[in-house]
Amino acid sequence: MREARSPNGSQIESSSLTREIISYDPVTGEELGRAPASSAAEVERAVDRARAAQPDWAARSFAERGRALLRAREIVLERLDEIASLIARESGKPLAEAIAMEIVPTLDLLHYFAHHAQKLLRDERIAIGHYALLGRSSRIIYRPLGTIGIISPWNFPWAIPLGQTAMALIAGNAVVLKPSELAPLTALKIGEVFAQAGLPENVLQIVTGDGAAGAALASSKIDKVIFTGSAATGRRVAAAAAQNLVPVVLELGGKDPLLVLDDADLDKAAAAAVWGAFANAGQACASVERCYVHERIAQDFLRRVVAETSRLRIGEDVGAMASERQIRTVEEHVRDALRRGARLLIGGERIGRGAGLFYAPTILTGVDHSMRIMREETFGPVLPVMTFRDEGEAIRLANDCAYGLTASIWTRDLRRGRRLAEQVIAGTVMVNEVLYTHAIAQAPWGGVRQSGWGRTHGRLGLLEFVAPLHVHTNRAIWWRDPWWFRYTPQAQRLFRTLARRFTDGSRWSLMRAVPDLVRRLREANRSSD
Ligand code: NAD
Repeated sequence: MREARSPNGSQIESSSLTREIISYDPVTGEELGRAPASSAAEVERAVDRARAAQPDWAARSFAERGRALLRAREIVLERLDEIASLIARESGKPLAEAIAMEIVPTLDLLHYFAHHAQKLLRDERIAIGHYALLGRSSRIIYRPLGTIGIISPWNFPWAIPLGQTAMALIAGNAVVLKPSELAPLTALKIGEVFAQAGLPENVLQIVTGDGAAGAALASSKIDKVIFTGSAATGRRVAAAAAQNLVPVVLELGGKDPLLVLDDADLDKAAAAAVWGAFANAGQACASVERCYVHERIAQDFLRRVVAETSRLRIGEDVGAMASERQIRTVEEHVRDALRRGARLLIGGERIGRGAGLFYAPTILTGVDHSMRIMREETFGPVLPVMTFRDEGEAIRLANDCAYGLTASIWTRDLRRGRRLAEQVIAGTVMVNEVLYTHAIAQAPWGGVRQSGWGRTHGRLGLLEFVAPLHVHTNRAIWWRDPWWFRYTPQAQRLFRTLARRFTDGSRWSLMRAVPDLVRRLREANRSSD
């Protein structure tokens, strides 16, 4: 038997017969269980099974598909403690976060899409302007894409894959889910819940494994890839999918700023910065990774932030880091900042807790944009704080970033907050809120720049799981279209008239084209007799 630790800390074990991933509790280092490390051939077979099962699933009504989601929701509620404890143990997050940040949002999402997907995807009639006067009409109907490949990360091992799976399913797709190698057991639990809810066999396939299984899925015969993870892997996934021209949604990293304006409620802003930076041990794509505070209030703000941070309990409030690789990135970023002149106000080191991978909540000042901690995703419990002189500088600093996922602005003046929100380059900007909007199933989620392509959640997210089909109908079937063959001088005359009279949207203008239109219709339909 050969054992090898992968770079992110998960472990793959191979024997001559099987390859397995071993899942560990990052708090105790204890083995929690094992899951197959699927080979490329196994991934392909899973895709084939899902493809075969999809048409029957798509043929069911929204109500029937919705009932499966609602049954799954009931099962999650019944088994809440068991599921929350598995999530907490496999990811290292406090039980409170497993319930609040993983389970509650998915219960809402299951309820919302079970009840609203049909309305969100109902057929639409399109206004087609003057073409309607010619007896035409257009509708869009939304059809399932087919089989969706979902590749997910470890930091929200329940909420992200479950939410995306539920949305894909309600739209009539089959799903092949490749969860993170750091959290395979949580994903298998998702499969178990849907199976117990009566989802037809093979409609949801879960292929556990490492990056190789993800790569096999991205280049398989699926109809779309929904990838959530780092920008580096996102690039590889997009390149692999491009070989088969398979479309991708990419939900990637962030370097999200929090701006504290001079009129902010400092107690709230400080508490928000601390929760936004340290919840999930800072391992959220929407974590506060940079803080900018107006120079006039900076000292008061920092005092509050440090006091709030010093009250946090390691283990109960701030969970473990998921892997050794992750904790090393945090250490490198903090070291680089300190070497370049940053000042440490609190934290800045690992905390020994048995085998636990804990890093102390850390606050740095004296940082600038030459430092890695202000440019690269740290993904740990670190809050670097910088000051600004005026609004213009705050927005420039916020936008001086390769990523664009979320941002948070703190001010008592909501109009000012919304005005500035429109100037930030991001997928979501919150005014007097922080971090939590991924939990809102009804609102779109996604980023710009290196934070990715496309959206999940909300109607925009649901539209990623369907192919719009435009159905165009001509009721005026008693004549030949005047733009068909042959291109006689009369036809050319009409086309010139249409160029002037048809394309400006005015009915009056169109009336003036009627004589040429009638002459041409007579000609075209005479020649067909
Ligand atoms: P990661 O990119 O290392 O891995 C993500 C997934 O991709 C895993 O399942 C992994 O096995 C798989 N994978 C690895 N190599 C692959 C390849 N070549 N082809 C296909 N799949 C492959 O990311 P991670 O460390 O698991 O997650 C952390 C990252 O995810 C952070 O950057 C974080 O910001 C981001 N994230 C983004 C969002 C969002 O909604 N924007 C949400 C959560 C996490």
